[in-house]
Amino acid sequence: MSGKVTLVGAGPGDPGLLTLKGREALRQADVVVCDRLVSPAVLEMIPDSARRIDVGKEAGHHLIPQEQINDILLNEALAGHNVVRLKGGDPFVFGRGGEELQALARAGVEFAEIPGVTSAVAAAAYGGIPVTHRDFASSLHIITGRARRGAALNIDFEALVRTHGTLVFLMGVTAMPDIVKGLLDAGMDGDTPAAMVERGTLPGQRRCVATLATLPQRAAEMGIHSPALIIVGGVCALAKELCWLEKLPLYGKRILVTRPKDRAGTLSDKLRALGAEAVEFPCIRTEALLPCPAMESALGRLAEYAWLGFTSAAGVEAFWNCLRGMGKDARALGGVKLAAIGPATGKALEAHGLVPDLIPEIYDAAHMGEALAKAAAGRVLLPRAEAGSASLTDALAEAGVSCDAIPVYRTIYDNPRSAELREEIEAGKFDFVTFTSASTVKGFISSVGADADFGHFTGLCIGAQTAGEAEKHGIHVRIAEKAAIDALVQSAVEQQQICK
Ligand code: SAH
Repeated sequence: MSGKVTLVGAGPGDPGLLTLKGREALRQADVVVCDRLVSPAVLEMIPDSARRIDVGKEAGHHLIPQEQINDILLNEALAGHNVVRLKGGDPFVFGRGGEELQALARAGVEFAEIPGVTSAVAAAAYGGIPVTHRDFASSLHIITGRARRGAALNIDFEALVRTHGTLVFLMGVTAMPDIVKGLLDAGMDGDTPAAMVERGTLPGQRRCVATLATLPQRAAEMGIHSPALIIVGGVCALAKELCWLEKLPLYGKRILVTRPKDRAGTLSDKLRALGAEAVEFPCIRTEALLPCPAMESALGRLAEYAWLGFTSAAGVEAFWNCLRGMGKDARALGGVKLAAIGPATGKALEAHGLVPDLIPEIYDAAHMGEALAKAAAGRVLLPRAEAGSASLTDALAEAGVSCDAIPVYRTIYDNPRSAELREEIEAGKFDFVTFTSASTVKGFISSVGADADFGHFTGLCIGAQTAGEAEKHGIHVRIAEKAAIDALVQSAVEQQQICK
């Protein structure tokens, strides 16, 4: 049976602007055929299980011809795959989406289209420019600034000037001086507000606000490159008043997020919402130890334990898998009380319908040990990482509480992008690196190399233990007030304010 092609608009760059439907389509994809304008952060959202075909890359200075792209889509679908064709912005706004779907329609292949947020509107918005406004424009015109193969620009400038609407030119960076001249020659006032937004919604976005007459010079001074929008019309006068992006507390900051891939999302999203560029580098992953005879045997004697203590969300998942593997569920836990080291671990328990009885006030192993020692009137079972730290078991031993720490998962340190990352780290391309556990520090160091120069960034750490591990390698650290993601994000903002 033949597969299906879903044409998906990836949005202008900010991964938060991919639609929910688009994200779901990516999740289900066997093959993803990507364009050049799809941002790295959106590409990160392609699941590892999907095969990626880049058709936007220049092979020997030639772009892959459209007919060949059509063939790739067709052949992948005919081979029975669920294909996502991912395109920057909206696929039907100067994206040749229509042409690709026609080829599929003619071949009788099933297809669907998921619109995207077009850069024509979103890049302007991120530049503080609303494309319409009752005081300035009652129409919006999106125009291509690129001529078809070798031909001259074919734009009816007089007609555009007569609209008095907002004009947005895509693919117009090279032709910008000609576009400006065309509008002036057609009678548009040289004082008409005009702007360009380069890499709109992407890290390092820049904008140039001028008038129609001064735009060519201002843009040349700033060295504006593609991809960029040219916006002409009264609405550009609002750019100063409505600029919101530059005001975000982490605007312009580049932050490396070292959490495991499946849990990096929330932290990166929070940092991005504050204006930072969050680069995900999942240098550790966890793997449940299955089968796990030691835990199975402990579960068989669960009545002997008064408390079950969890020190990570990964521990909760591995424990749960082991329990389910034995054909049991939450009912098997009966009267045993549950402790979680912090809110994230607590949430992982709640996802299985289990509410923790104890979360220490300070979310680290030592404080969890103290709190458990106070509360525990009996044996404690600790399902945890293979190489778990001694802080918790030591604290319990000191208080005379007996416990069984059983490894249920292991942490694996690896990431193939390490050489590239090392170069960026040493060139000072990151302002911050986040460390949410000592194992993320270990993973980071083993990926980048212990002899690298770590002097160019601040390590944002959750917990003293994590910070201690980072300091061993000469990393300048800042410890979050509380061991929680929000506090970590807050510490980045505070550090920023100190530096300002
Ligand atoms: N389908 C896309 C447009 C493709 S044409 C969309 O709907 O956005 C490519 C042009 O889009 C570029 O030359 C540039 O003018 C514009 N563009 C795309 N992404 C952009 C971005 N992030 N910032 C500014 N302009 C962008």
